[in-house]
Amino acid sequence: MRYVVMEVLGFGRQLEPETLTAMAEGSEGHRRFQGELAEAALLVTAEAPLKAGEGAVRGRVDAVIHWRGDPTAVEFKTMHDAAFDTVLDRGPRYRHVAQLATYLEFGAYGRGVLVVEGRPSRRRVGFCLARDEAMGRWLRARVEEGLRWAEARRLPPREVSRYCLECDRWRRCFRDEGEREAAVSAHPLWEPEPPLPAIWVRRLSCGAAGPGIDQEWLSEEEGGGEAGAGRSRVLGTDGV
Ligand code: SF4
Repeated sequence: MRYVVMEVLGFGRQLEPETLTAMAEGSEGHRRFQGELAEAALLVTAEAPLKAGEGAVRGRVDAVIHWRGDPTAVEFKTMHDAAFDTVLDRGPRYRHVAQLATYLEFGAYGRGVLVVEGRPSRRRVGFCLARDEAMGRWLRARVEEGLRWAEARRLPPREVSRYCLECDRWRRCFRDEGEREAAVSAHPLWEPEPPLPAIWVRRLSCGAAGPGIDQEWLSEEEGGGEAGAGRSRVLGTDGV
């Protein structure tokens, strides 16, 4: 919440060289991925703009594709292979799925696909997410609260979690790295208010297959899942 209010109020970010390198690699990967979708005749729009919630929600959907007759939002993420293996083993990162859920809620897409690619192996795995009422309510409550803080031109209290260790605005929240580390050690889990709703995804049948995307790659995996309906709850490979 604090990070988002800083964004709305125009606070700067402190981007480290390794972050800039990862962003450049990610941009190259996005262009390659969007090109593949176009080649497979799946792509409707690349970088579809999204703006809602009086400007509090804004961004670009990596791709919109035609999938089973409906426009579907696609979010593409790249990560180092070690992190990718964790996603394969335990599921996607909550924050990546939550980002896609935001597109579904505010962009009015019924369904979305998260594609995660490992670097440098270029292995991929995909997850399908449907629009969900509980998640939608949570997102709208957070946006409304963020707007209240922004209108008052005040920053909300910190929500300390291990995300603070990767945050490019952390210097607005802690005096120094020591203070940040101590705070995160004392409270590593992100526990926002209202509490996070569960998110349910289906893993796509592509498994960890290599590059190359088409309708078959986008098939849904059969069976399994905690909900007994082929879905799996995102329990968080990132501490949520
Ligand atoms: S350092 Fe932590 S509390 Fe501060 S904006 Fe970043 S994630 Fe939020």
